[in-house]
Amino acid sequence: MPEKCSVCGVVDVFSTDPDRTYCLTCWMSGDYFDQRLCSEERSFMLKRIRELPNVLVARIFHAGDGSFQLAIVLKDGRMVVPGLGGDVNGQRLVMPFVPPVEQGWGVLVRVPIEAENEWESTTSALPERYDDDELVELVQDLGLGLPS
Ligand SMILES: [Zn+2]
Repeated sequence: MPEKCSVCGVVDVFSTDPDRTYCLTCWMSGDYFDQRLCSEERSFMLKRIRELPNVLVARIFHAGDGSFQLAIVLKDGRMVVPGLGGDVNGQRLVMPFVPPVEQGWGVLVRVPIEAENEWESTTSALPERYDDDELVELVQDLGLGLPS
């Protein structure tokens, strides 16, 4: 008898791997990571970010190839994109990934620019790495001065 999904509680879990406690939909939709980042294990970080007055939306989306991306949109259109931070040849990179708690977040900030396509933006990788609490503070600080 299969277990019910630990996220939606509705769909059976078909995986035979005992560590996979979620269903296909809750994985592909990002709801699994959403629940994790809103949990005590992650200091309720995503929930706290959503409650900041300068945040329009904060959500996980499937970035392709099994990668998931947290994106936080501020009310002026800037997108804070935390992921897996790394350095290659002295250059800061941030890959779409939800890192484990001990690893910390690398952060990209995308600023939209006037262009034909709405996805065109300048992108800069912040030099620091952030734990969950520090990421909440960073988003709060980036949004200071914005109308709430
Ligand atoms: Zn589910």
